[in-house]
Amino acid sequence: MLTANSFRRELARIETRGKYVTKATRRLMRRHGVAAIYSKGKLRGYRLPTGEQVCVKARFPTEDAARAELDTISRLSPRDHKPVRAYECPLCKGWHLTSQP
Ligand SMILES: [Zn+2]
Repeated sequence: MLTANSFRRELARIETRGKYVTKATRRLMRRHGVAAIYSKGKLRGYRLPTGEQVCVKARFPTEDAARAELDTISRLSPRDHKPVRAYECPLCKGWHLTSQP
């Protein structure tokens, strides 16, 4: 059975390869019966046959890990539009960063 972690690993492998990303992602989804989740016209994540959800956003396993990344970005990124806080995601049970206060 496909788990959220193995699906994340497969997605990462596809993106690292960098070729035919869309095609390879669709094939992976079809093979495992994974559904895409869209909201307001944007791809937000994937729903697995197990009911687990995998978000497209960068996912941190703990609040500390998310805060550490937030800290690094706020010190090093030259961009104006930066994440300002971490939040726990009710869908994938991980932590994400957001630029919304
Ligand atoms: Zn999430």
